[in-house]
Amino acid sequence: MKLLLSHDQLSSRIREMGREITKDMAGLEPHVIAVLKGACPFMTDLCQWIDLPLSMDYIAVSSYGAATKSSGEVKLSKDLDTSIKDRDLIIAEDIVDTGLTLNYLVNLLKARGPRSIRVASLLSKPSRRLIEVKVDYTGFVIDDLFVVGYGLDYNEKYRNLRDIVVFEG
Ligand code: 5GP
Repeated sequence: MKLLLSHDQLSSRIREMGREITKDMAGLEPHVIAVLKGACPFMTDLCQWIDLPLSMDYIAVSSYGAATKSSGEVKLSKDLDTSIKDRDLIIAEDIVDTGLTLNYLVNLLKARGPRSIRVASLLSKPSRRLIEVKVDYTGFVIDDLFVVGYGLDYNEKYRNLRDIVVFEG
């Protein structure tokens, strides 16, 4: 497996993202929502650099299966614990690939009446996009590669790697 982003590179970029969010959201109390499971390490580290009184919650989605994946049909497998009405949300994602998952999530959460929604994604593969989605904070833009580590898995493995590496099978 080839190293793509070292833990040090991830940490320093995440620190910058946290500081930018702190500035942009000054005076607000962000409600940060991590998309399980891949975004957990990112969300945890990011929140340590957001110097605001924030709260956290978790949501999980799964696709209906390979056959329907490209249609973007995803189902909610774990919902939020609390209401998001009038809250200022930050959705923390590990990676935006086709954009279908994020598009589904944003629409789902929007319908619940939050005051604002921002999206922070550690990685983005714009060349794979099937639907336009707004990502307010992007850690790193990467090529069309399958990566694992720092939360990202292959068959539930490698989430515990400190670095992000290119999975070569
Ligand atoms: P999208 O709906 O944007 O196509 O897919 C987003 C989800 O696909 C991510 O949250 C992640 O679970 C998975 N995914 C997309 N690209 C990669 C990748 O390179 N590595 C891993 N491990 N998962 C990926």
